[in-house]
Amino acid sequence: RKVLVTGANGFVAIHIVDNLLKNGYFVRATIRSESKEAHLKKLFSKYGDKLEFVVVPDITRDGAFDHVVDGLDAILHTASPFQYDVKDPEELIRPAVDGTLSVLKSAIKAPGNIKRVIILSSSVSVGLLRFNHEYTEEEWNDSAIDDVKAKGKESNGLVKYMASKTLAERAAWELYRKHKASLPWDMVAINPPYIFGPNLHEVDKPENLNTSSKRWFDLFFNPIFSDQELYFAGNWVDVRDVAAAHVAALEKEEAADERIVIAAGPVPEQEFIEAAKRAAASLGIKGVQTGIKKYDPANVKNSVIYSSKKRERILGIKITSVDESVRDTIADFKERGWIP
Ligand code: NDP
Repeated sequence: RKVLVTGANGFVAIHIVDNLLKNGYFVRATIRSESKEAHLKKLFSKYGDKLEFVVVPDITRDGAFDHVVDGLDAILHTASPFQYDVKDPEELIRPAVDGTLSVLKSAIKAPGNIKRVIILSSSVSVGLLRFNHEYTEEEWNDSAIDDVKAKGKESNGLVKYMASKTLAERAAWELYRKHKASLPWDMVAINPPYIFGPNLHEVDKPENLNTSSKRWFDLFFNPIFSDQELYFAGNWVDVRDVAAAHVAALEKEEAADERIVIAAGPVPEQEFIEAAKRAAASLGIKGVQTGIKKYDPANVKNSVIYSSKKRERILGIKITSVDESVRDTIADFKERGWIP
């Protein structure tokens, strides 16, 4: 079976490609420019012509994917900007929304075989800032959209990103529902929180890491976080689990028309540092920062919580532990010669 992966060179997407190829799928990968092809080709050379490439320079253009969707069984759409440092929120919203709609419109027009379209959304389109509340997939982060509408460029970077993901996922479901009766395919949204883990994609230095991986690099090696920030329990998931979730979502009939949060649970930032210290000791690495000097777990007040019921019921994938994920990530940083 042949699956399209958009933005295949990204941190998350390349793990999805890896998992698909390991599971015997043919993969058609879209990238923005030809220069992104060589790394993927080399990394997956053993799979030969099971991996093919199409360059789509502007995903927001109507019809951009028309020539890409022939002969596919499924589509996984991941390409979307994940950054906080933009001024105009439209820099995030336009590619997120128009890119998603452009993929879906081409899938709607496509002849025949497509059975499922999976959108890589985010838990931020469910909600993030109501701490200690257990979010479920019934919820939508409309407050981020309202905030950006009201404040525009003055909105916080995280909120701009949250609005882009919420608007894109809402637009996807709206278009899908409008055409659903006549479509041969159904749709799934995967909604992960912060994704961490070893990098397979092409990165030359830590400064150029994708947003979430850079966060772990800084958390372990740059003492830029306040104690208050380190006592915050954000939610997270390992990138390999997200990849496995995509493949499971392709294969499980019951995933049809569902949004599914895939999250490992809230973890205080300091606990990631503690895991990094343990990993560093076993890997013979120095330089992991101390973080909070006298860490007391009782001081953790704010947690970001998502229900795992749907993930367990429908996808049933395993969840990687903090220690395993942190160790593998640090081992990867070490191999790249990045440990300060
Ligand atoms: P990366 O930055 O590593 O990858 C982003 C991918 O999207 C790249 O292929 C990139 O292409 C492409 N892309 C970015 N902006 C545009 C644009 N304007 N037009 C076309 N393509 C674009 O990020 P991640 O792998 O972390 O993110 C991938 C997806 O996962 C995103 O949809 C993100 O919202 C979602 N996600 C990520 C989480 C995380 O913690 N990492 C958490 C939850 C969801 P290029 O390399 O050419 O710029």
